[in-house]
Amino acid sequence: MFGKLESAAGLPYSRCMPGSFSPVPLVLFGVPFHNVTFEEAIQWVVDRVRSNEPGVIATANLDFLVQAQNDPELRDVLYAADLVIADGFPPVKLAPLFGPPLKGRVTGSDITPMLAERAAREGISIYGLGAAEGVAAQAMDALRKRHPELKVAGAWSPPYAPLDQMDHTEILRRLDEAQPDILFTAFGAPKQEKFNHMHVKTWKVPVAIGVGGTLDFIAGVQRRAPAGVQKIHCEWLWRWGTDPKRLTKRYVSNIVFLLRALWLTFRLRITKDIPAPIDSSVPPHWAGHGVVYHGFQPLGDFSEAEAFVQKYETAGKVVFDLRGIEQLSSLEIGALLEVGKRVQKIVLLHAGSKVRRLFEFSKLTGRLPLAVNCAEAIRFVGEKA
Ligand code: UDP
Repeated sequence: MFGKLESAAGLPYSRCMPGSFSPVPLVLFGVPFHNVTFEEAIQWVVDRVRSNEPGVIATANLDFLVQAQNDPELRDVLYAADLVIADGFPPVKLAPLFGPPLKGRVTGSDITPMLAERAAREGISIYGLGAAEGVAAQAMDALRKRHPELKVAGAWSPPYAPLDQMDHTEILRRLDEAQPDILFTAFGAPKQEKFNHMHVKTWKVPVAIGVGGTLDFIAGVQRRAPAGVQKIHCEWLWRWGTDPKRLTKRYVSNIVFLLRALWLTFRLRITKDIPAPIDSSVPPHWAGHGVVYHGFQPLGDFSEAEAFVQKYETAGKVVFDLRGIEQLSSLEIGALLEVGKRVQKIVLLHAGSKVRRLFEFSKLTGRLPLAVNCAEAIRFVGEKA
């Protein structure tokens, strides 16, 4: 697939992403999602363990879209994650409004026991990290009861503390001693994602996945919603009802965000695009500025998006002219972000009003700056990343 693209762990991309699904994510309101099924994600984990190259999985749900709006560090962590799975229905339902549909939701609470089951069959070891005192160990015991041959490398629930006050040295020492193949990190979002991202380049854990409250469910200290409630997409309502004190703020902000996002989507559909005025004042000598300048062409499917990323991965500074493009799909934004990760600088020129509104709402302009004219594009490419 791709050549020498970088993952969170700084590895060549082609060695990080086996070819069963596209490495180009669909970007919904600034958050990337890989288009995978449970089976593909589980196979990715097994392959990753076999290749012994550290990688991270983020299980992103609606709350991630909300948190990512105000947390640039979380956005960076998600862009750098090797695999981002859609942990809930909102991303799955939103996806077709912006581009190709996602194959389905791949929830952290479901994939965790499935991974344990596969790990037991493959001789892969697991480690539970986080949750309240003793809960990680209880969860590992419960999984071992289900699968007696499962290799549990260890479990530990460190004392609750903010990320920067946690005893990272002690956690890393324990992980180094246990050498797990799969690490289930349960510190809640976004702490667990930031924790995994902080250490992926230096530790030897092949796969770390943030699993939120899943260890609580497996240990039996929290009850998951009944299957019927899950089926009608109301698991969140169940969780809200069982822990209103903690979750009310989260779910209210999630609902408010969803309504704002849907309103924006509707507005983008019904309003006319106002194209950017085309700047033809200075005939820009792009090459003289060390810039590759190309008109952006729509990307129809994942293979076109992959070819696009591959084409530009070795470009230093690149300006894509969006004239004539009314809106960018989630896949096109995913491809542009993938290019942006690999080139020295990427700038989009002549974005119309619709692209601008979506980018501003989704906080994408930091990674994909929008220049109104050639002079601004040249200034942006000259700025430090
Ligand atoms: N947790 C933790 N350390 C913290 C905060 C939370 O270990 O500083 C644990 C908490 O006990 C729970 C898990 O993180 O087991 C997930 O928390 P939360 O319910 O917020 O995650 P969600 O699944 O809702 O994303």
